[in-house]
Amino acid sequence: MAHVAPHTDFAPLIVAPTERVFVLTGAGISAESGIKTFRDVNGLWEEFRVEDVASPEGWRKDPTLVWRFYSDRRAQAKTCLPNPAHEALAQVEARLGERLFLCTQNVDPLHERAGSKRAVHMHGELFKSRCEDDACDVPPFEDAGEYRGDAALPRCRCGARIRPHIVWFGEVPFDLEAIGDALLGSALFVTVGSSGSVYPAAGFVRAARATGARTVYVGPERPENASAFDECRLGNATAVLPTLFA
Ligand code: NAD
Repeated sequence: MAHVAPHTDFAPLIVAPTERVFVLTGAGISAESGIKTFRDVNGLWEEFRVEDVASPEGWRKDPTLVWRFYSDRRAQAKTCLPNPAHEALAQVEARLGERLFLCTQNVDPLHERAGSKRAVHMHGELFKSRCEDDACDVPPFEDAGEYRGDAALPRCRCGARIRPHIVWFGEVPFDLEAIGDALLGSALFVTVGSSGSVYPAAGFVRAARATGARTVYVGPERPENASAFDECRLGNATAVLPTLFA
C-alpha cells in the first residue's frame, strides 16, 4: 500500500553514485506553465473531443479539424515557459548525465526549453511533423507551422499529406525498447503529474517495481495506479521538484 502524504512529510530522495533514475512526466508537470491537462477538461480537450483530433480515425475523417487543433496547440505552446519543475529535472540531468532517463508523455517542448537534452517523447512532439505515408523516406522534421483552413493542408514532396508527429490513441508509442531497458536498470522510478490512466505509460511503475526499484509519485492527488507506488508525495510539481532530490 502506498504511503500517501504531503511532500513535506518525506525526506529528499538520495541517489547513490552508480544508481540510475527513471523519471516519467505527464501533463501535470506543464499545467503550471499554462498547458491544460486532459483531466482539467472532462473529456473535452480545449473544446475538442479527443477522438476527433487525436486518433487515426479522426485524421481520416477530418484532417482540417485535426490540423486546426494542433495549430492552436502550437500557437499556445509558443507562449508558454518552462516552470521550476522542468528546470529542476534539467538540473538533475546535468548532475546525473546518462544515469537519468527522462521519459515524457508530453508533446510540448518545455523540458527542452528548461535545458534537458535527452528527454524521450514517447507520445511525439508538437513542433515536429511527418509524412502520413509510413513508406515515404522523408523523415520527421521540425515544424512550427500553423495550418488552418482547407487550402492550407500541408503536403509532402511524395504527394501524401503531412501530419503532426504525435502518437494518437490507438498508435504505438515511440522508443518502447529503450524505455523497457531503462526501466530494467533503474533503482528509482519517479512519476510526475500523470493520472495513471493512459497505457502503456501507466504500467511502467509496475515494471520498475518488479525489478526492485523504489517507486515515487508526485502530484496534487493520488493517481489511478497509486497502489503500485511506494510513496505518493502530494503537492504541485513546482512546489515538490526543486526539493525532491537531495
Ligand atoms: P492527465 O491529464 O490524464 O492527468 C494529469 C495529471 O496531472 C492528474 O493526475 C493531475 O492530478 C496532475 N496535475 C495537475 N496539476 C498538477 C501540478 N500542478 N503538478 C503536478 N501534477 C499535476 O495527463 P497524463 O496522465 O499525462 O495523460 C494524458 C495524455 O495527454 C498523455 O498521453 C499526453 O500525451 C497528453 N497530453 C499532453 C499535454 C502536454 O504535452 N503538455 C497536455 C495534455 C495532454
